[in-house]
Amino acid sequence: MDLSAEQHEVLKRALLKKGGELADKLSRLLAGERVADLGALLGGGTPGERPEEKLRRFLARIDAALAALRAGSYGGCEGCGVALGWARLEQLPWADRCASCAAALG
Ligand SMILES: [Zn+2]
Repeated sequence: MDLSAEQHEVLKRALLKKGGELADKLSRLLAGERVADLGALLGGGTPGERPEEKLRRFLARIDAALAALRAGSYGGCEGCGVALGWARLEQLPWADRCASCAAALG
């Protein structure tokens, strides 16, 4: 996907910010604090997945998105290969599937 330098920056900043928030939540969780809003973090995963596993999975997704951004391979659907499009990426910079593939995954 072709991104302008500005779009690239917007996505990178959003990913780094989210990654920072998640790392902070994870360390508070591991320190035994109650951390709110974990339920809405990220869909999918295995049933009974622990909150810290969910956080680690989301962090790994962010890292992968940042790596893809650096490598220039960012923005394609892992399911069907379609370009995800700016509207979806701006909303979900860590998205790795288009809406229909994500829906098919459940
Ligand atoms: Zn797809």
